[in-house]
Amino acid sequence: MPHGHFAMLNSRNQRLRVLLLNPPFKHRVLRDFYCCTYSKTGYLWHPIDLLAQSGILGARHEVSVCDAVALGMTRKSALDAAANFNPDAVYSLIGSLTLESDLAFIEELYRRAGAKIIVSGDAVLNKPEFLLETHPSIHAALFNFTNQDLLNILEANTDSVRDAAFKTQRGIEVRRMGGASEFQYPVPNHAAFNHNAYNMPLAPQEFVTILTAFGCPHSCAFCNSGVRSLGFSLRRIENVEQEIAHVHSQGIRHIFFKDMTFGIGKERTGRLCEYLVRNAPGTTWHAYTRLDLLDEHTITMFARSGCRLLQLGIETADPRVGSASRKPLDLSRAANTFKIMRREGITPGAHFIMGLPRATLMSDIRTMRRAAALNPGYASFNAFMPRPGSEWFEKGQNRARSGFALKMLVRAAYLYFYCRPRSLVAFFSRTASMRRGQSLSAMLRYLIFVPDLKRRGAGSGK
Ligand code: SF4
Repeated sequence: MPHGHFAMLNSRNQRLRVLLLNPPFKHRVLRDFYCCTYSKTGYLWHPIDLLAQSGILGARHEVSVCDAVALGMTRKSALDAAANFNPDAVYSLIGSLTLESDLAFIEELYRRAGAKIIVSGDAVLNKPEFLLETHPSIHAALFNFTNQDLLNILEANTDSVRDAAFKTQRGIEVRRMGGASEFQYPVPNHAAFNHNAYNMPLAPQEFVTILTAFGCPHSCAFCNSGVRSLGFSLRRIENVEQEIAHVHSQGIRHIFFKDMTFGIGKERTGRLCEYLVRNAPGTTWHAYTRLDLLDEHTITMFARSGCRLLQLGIETADPRVGSASRKPLDLSRAANTFKIMRREGITPGAHFIMGLPRATLMSDIRTMRRAAALNPGYASFNAFMPRPGSEWFEKGQNRARSGFALKMLVRAAYLYFYCRPRSLVAFFSRTASMRRGQSLSAMLRYLIFVPDLKRRGAGSGK
């Protein structure tokens, strides 16, 4: 039973024990930044919500990190580790693909540790008040992890909370005041995360994850990271530089910039690249960005500052489907952009979505063939499933074909792309032999058992 730590949370002078938790799951899964996906080749980055809070909370409270997914922990070992820390509060990720399992884990932890539990993740974007009403164990849900809301909730300073749903004596309060145009936070405690447990395609084994912006200024209809659901704000550039200086002083030489769309604001991005060149020699980096942000000047600047991989959402080869999704990219530019990237030593990575609304079988096959023709360093094919918080989730938009047909299409796309001789040569020449075996077996497992694509928001039925 809960053992009554709650009273302590009302004192601002009390140093609390706060656990930052990524709960265990049977598959390797990513749940951070309000986006939940399966890891197809076993890749994982550091959960950015937990990282940011390790800096914000760590300045005032005792913080411990338990990333049960990265460490491959069983439910029992994760539960024991979490309860043994004897936390006053737990900040836990929950995801739309793993919701049932996450909520059951949280209930059990609450029964054992009695801690105040605050959650974030894509599942909270849909009817958070329903989540709080139906789960006595959950005290609050955050819509932004870069501000002081969690700290304010834990220190009973709720007047200052901006973007969260939380319980009060009067009932549940939901605030969505939007982020400030700029934010900053203390340097996260990178050392609290076991770097060996994280890896990404085409990145060195040791890397750190750093955020330079929250949300995305675009609003693609299938995506829940856009301005419509998360808002958009930039991290103060001096604050980003401070974190880069810190990790460089710790000997880290590769950064994953975890922005949803890296490179917003030409002047600011130029300054960041210049900072890397002058103050972080030997550093390489990679990031997600958009095709329409990349001109020759930008690519050259990125390469000079250490960029080695850019991951781009190409989504579909059918312009009609792109326009309906509100992501109408000019794909005729893609081949040339990829060529310039390769010339500058940057590997292009490309992401595609099969089964988007309005996509026909022929347009998905065209997407598959276009992916092969573009020949990116890697391609990721995803089955469309409306994401909680996205426009299409709220409108109940269905995918273009059944789950079974979509899984077959995703399998076919992977086989078509990766069984080409030049893909095989690239894979064997670029991937270190140790990682090659792991990636191959993870990919084969994924292809054979493409996991269930059911997503649940907090307000959806089972
Ligand atoms: S798909 Fe990319 S560009 Fe579009 S809203 Fe999402 S993060 Fe932004």
